Amino acid sequence: MRFSRGRNFLFRIPEGEELLKFINEFAKKNNVLIGTVSAIGSLKNPKIGYFDEDAGEYKVIELTGTYELVSLAGNISVKDGEPFAHIHVALGDSDGMLYGGHLVEGEVFVAEVFMQELLGELLERKPQENGLALWDETSL
Ligand code: ZN
Repeated sequence: MRFSRGRNFLFRIPEGEELLKFINEFAKKNNVLIGTVSAIGSLKNPKIGYFDEDAGEYKVIELTGTYELVSLAGNISVKDGEPFAHIHVALGDSDGMLYGGHLVEGEVFVAEVFMQELLGELLERKPQENGLALWDETSL
């Protein structure tokens, strides 16, 4: 799928907000249906997921305390008719060790977010047999 660049947003999420919820609501409010997201900052008590292929669901890893949001990478597409952010994070502890995975939940201490809107055909997530909601594959 080919897209052209739309609007750029650079913003800070207030302390105490739930990161994923805020990003989804921001996208909805600004009518960003397709895009990319990146961020840095710090999260409290984040929950990250590891997709267990055999179980067909995410194993949730609950971290306690405050972690550096070393890197956040994700995208926005449409799921069930609304903008849906799919986000992965690398989180650093006080020794600089990293945890990483699919972001399930995280309370913002600090979050500086860059969102790039993309314009083009609608990109939609559809439920798959493996338990994930994915885009149609692209053929060459
Ligand atoms: Zn994921």
